[in-house]
Amino acid sequence: MKIKRSRKHSESEEKSKKSKADRIFQKATEKIDPNLVLEVKNLTKKYLLGDYTVMALNNVNLQVKKGEFVAVVGPSGAGKTTLINCLGALDFPDDGKVIYNIDGKGNGSDITKMTDKEHKEMRLHKIGLIFQFYNLFPILTAFENVELPTVLAGLSEKKRYERVKRLLKIVGLDHRMDHLPTQMSGGEQQRVTVARSLSNEPLLLLADEPTGELDTETTTQIVEIFLKFKDLGQSILMVTHNSRIAETADRILTLTDGEIIGERKGGKPLREIWYD
Ligand code: ADP
Ligand code: MG
Repeated sequence: MKIKRSRKHSESEEKSKKSKADRIFQKATEKIDPNLVLEVKNLTKKYLLGDYTVMALNNVNLQVKKGEFVAVVGPSGAGKTTLINCLGALDFPDDGKVIYNIDGKGNGSDITKMTDKEHKEMRLHKIGLIFQFYNLFPILTAFENVELPTVLAGLSEKKRYERVKRLLKIVGLDHRMDHLPTQMSGGEQQRVTVARSLSNEPLLLLADEPTGELDTETTTQIVEIFLKFKDLGQSILMVTHNSRIAETADRILTLTDGEIIGERKGGKPLREIWYD
């Protein structure tokens, strides 16, 4: 997919897309500590199954600091995916607030009050999302998959090229730019997904079991890439049932039956996580 436009056209379009996003983000009316990127308050999500109510999230409170890598661990059914969906503007909770530090200065927006359209803008501009399955477009190359969100955001061709090249270099795939997903291993595809999720420079990267489908060696590579982006200042929240990889995060929260029941410090070196 080559998108050709004259420079003039693309620059004016870039401006108009930006101002559309800015209009939404100007509704930043919730105060948030400027050192935080995200504050979650009393988040609750129920599912009704006949007469039975599942409390998928029960009064969850958490914060992510700027540049922090937070892991949320918990067994299957703990509410991890529900949490990612509510933080990732993919689902609406029943109660509580999910406040992003939209301008980085403490003027926050509560995404639970946003419309579907505003959620779409949040996912395009402010939140990066990674899932267990790679979800790459099979007919697009690695470069084009990473480029796509920047096309939707209206970035100029020059900026797109520079940004995509840089991201693919960080994930170690700049030499595979023209390869299709079918020509790459699962681990390589997930590395492309990580690059794609960051192509519009989101405030926060949300990852739901990003290594769930990968073997030990490839899992290590993905965590290594997360740590690289963290070192570059990227804020990350990862949910996983794999408590070993969670140990590499700065802070680890334990989620069970929809409740955060514990918190501890992480920071274990990557080379040590498979041994103890
Ligand atoms: P995890 O990702 O930690 O495995 P989930 O967030 O997927 O957990 O699920 C948390 C709980 O909510 C589980 O008990 C699950 O069965 C229930 N649940 C999740 N999604 C739905 C749904 N769409 N309808 C009904 N129950 C759901
Ligand atoms: Mg899940």
